[in-house]
Order: sequence, then structure tokens, then C-alpha cells
Amino acid sequence: MKGSFLAIVFSFLALFSACGQTQSTSKEKPNNPKELSEEEWKSILTQEEYDVLRNKGTERAFTGEYWDNKEDGVYVCGACGAELFDSKTKFKSGSGWPSFYDTLGNVSMVMDRSYGMLRTEVVCSNCEGHLGHVFEDGPRPTGYRYCINSVSLDFKKR
Ligand code: FE
Repeated sequence: MKGSFLAIVFSFLALFSACGQTQSTSKEKPNNPKELSEEEWKSILTQEEYDVLRNKGTERAFTGEYWDNKEDGVYVCGACGAELFDSKTKFKSGSGWPSFYDTLGNVSMVMDRSYGMLRTEVVCSNCEGHLGHVFEDGPRPTGYRYCINSVSLDFKKR
């Protein structure tokens, strides 16, 4: 009897500490994102976010949260909260990643020679987090296709 009572208390404790952890690791936005150490980023981001945003990984196509999101709003950086893309410039690319033909600023382009390809990497200019790549086969009016990992983004509904 006493044992089961203790078991219940412990499961509640475990539940509460798990909730606390989710809260602290999910979306605290740092004030000084460019000064954070990798250890600090690891404590702020989930493993998946860390792999993409800090280690330039790529989520599998058609698996992210936003590739098919059609809601009206603004996409912000998943690491620092900077406003990056407007849903008005999102288009159906067929790639399986959220695709935009323009940005809201707050992004920088970096030459990327990894994997034997020459590509243009897109990073958040506020925190230098990896977002994706930009290609020149996008629709009018810009002709650009910003191909962005869902996991690098948060969505703010309008
Ligand atoms: Fe950022």
C-alpha cells in the first residue's frame, strides 16, 4: 500500500520535472544569440533543432512541421525568434521543405561548398543559425527559392 503510494508520488514528480524540462528546452529566446557557447545552445534547443540550426543538418523532406502549412502568418527563427519569412511569399515547390520566394530581411547568404556542390546557404543574421539554402529556380517576382528546414522555424499565426 505504502509502496504504491510512493510510486504514485514518484510518477508525479517525474511528470512535473519532464514538463519543466520541456518548457526550458523548448523556446527560450536568448538576448545575446551570437555570444552563446555550443553548450548553451544545446541546453536551449532540442537535439533535432541543434543538429540543423547549429550543425547545418537537413531534416528529411516531407517530414517537417511546416512544408505544407498554408496558414497566414510569419515564420521566425527557431533559435532566436527573428522574423524571417512571411507566409504571403510561401509557395508550393514540391520539394518537401517550406519554400519562400522572398525574405523579411534578417537572413544572410553564405557560400557552401559541402558535399561536392556549390550552394548558397541561408543563415539567420541575428544568431547565425543554419536555415537552409537558396536556389535561383523560384517563381516571380524574385526568381529565388528559399528552401528552409521546418525545424529551423517557428510559426506565428496572424
Ligand atoms: Fe536566429
